[in-house]
Amino acid sequence: MKTPVYFDYAATAPVDPRVVEAMLGLLGPDGDFGNPSAVHAYGRKAAALVEEAREEIAALLGVAASGIVFTSGATESDNLAIKGAARAAARRGRHVITEKTAHKAVLDACRALEREGFEVSYLVPDRGGRISAAQLEASLRPDTILVSLLHANNETGVLQDIPALAAAVRRHGALFHLDAAQSAGKVELPLEQVDLLALSAHKFCGPKGAGLLYVRPGVRLEPLLHGGGHERGRRAGTLATHQIRGMALAFRLAVESMAEESSRLAGFSSRLIEGLCALPGVLLNGHREARLPNIVNVSVEGVDGEALQLALRDIACSSGAACNSASGEPSYVLRALGRDDALAGASLRFSMGRWTRVEEVDYLLERFGSELTRLRRIAGAA
Ligand SMILES: *Cc1c(COP(=O)(O)O)cnc(C)c1O
Repeated sequence: MKTPVYFDYAATAPVDPRVVEAMLGLLGPDGDFGNPSAVHAYGRKAAALVEEAREEIAALLGVAASGIVFTSGATESDNLAIKGAARAAARRGRHVITEKTAHKAVLDACRALEREGFEVSYLVPDRGGRISAAQLEASLRPDTILVSLLHANNETGVLQDIPALAAAVRRHGALFHLDAAQSAGKVELPLEQVDLLALSAHKFCGPKGAGLLYVRPGVRLEPLLHGGGHERGRRAGTLATHQIRGMALAFRLAVESMAEESSRLAGFSSRLIEGLCALPGVLLNGHREARLPNIVNVSVEGVDGEALQLALRDIACSSGAACNSASGEPSYVLRALGRDDALAGASLRFSMGRWTRVEEVDYLLERFGSELTRLRRIAGAA
């Protein structure tokens, strides 16, 4: 077993070797390296490859290819969706709704809008991490132009009830943006129910620096980047043929294996939740059922979160401790779920993916149990 054992797929996943292979053929002097905007044969070949990838992704999503805008990742897609749609709709209203537990890409884009004079409401989820349709309904106003939520939370894996939330947004005539960076390739995506949807290739075993924004036909966006009218004027910049082809293949592989892979990972999650929560003072964070198959987040009572992560050096996971955040605060996501500072800080996220094996899950359970016992003994002796 290779250590540290990788339990941080929600942060990023390795690129599938089949994807690496496909990307390499697009880079060198013998590859299809042309600029898709160029009119000669090199350019036309590259443009055809990009459009083929667009068609393939659109077919997998069940949407029109013209709605796919290629970006550098979900951070850019979220920014384009939120700032782009809000600015384009500013004459109709200046109120935006998001959630306290959104990813920083969403929250920081909303903060930028606030500095431009938009008003943003931040919904607080229940203890399970979910937002109710009634709660959303109560904050929708005549001047609400956009609602931006996560399909699945990146820290807890909790899934929102999109059909109910989308119906509320639709009744009020606002646009609905969903960040699906964590859920893509894990569960079905609710494309018919949203206006804007962000994906990131490196979360489904594609390359980093590649993503897309789905834009429902007719939705207007003010571009963030200007410089050449690429992507129907919605995102300027030379199209990265290798990234786009890599993302398309990675997405196809993820979708094709989704049913089997998600049930395999859900089995690992159950094993982890059962094993971890059988230990005294270990609490599962987030809703028990409405969750992704690959993320398990727990808080531990009575131990120091940083000490626990340090002790588990042979496990590559992510923690909600202050030392892991740029802000110096324990996880704002877990705080919003009602965990106090100590429990939000003493939390670990284990996320699994394509190369996770059952032996690794069992190794994690054994190591976690023995380190927890050891740390508690030290704390008790002090
Ligand atoms: C990873 C992630 C992002 C950022 O995606 P990048 O492609 O790395 O910019 C945004 N939102 C969520 C929910 C994520 O998990």
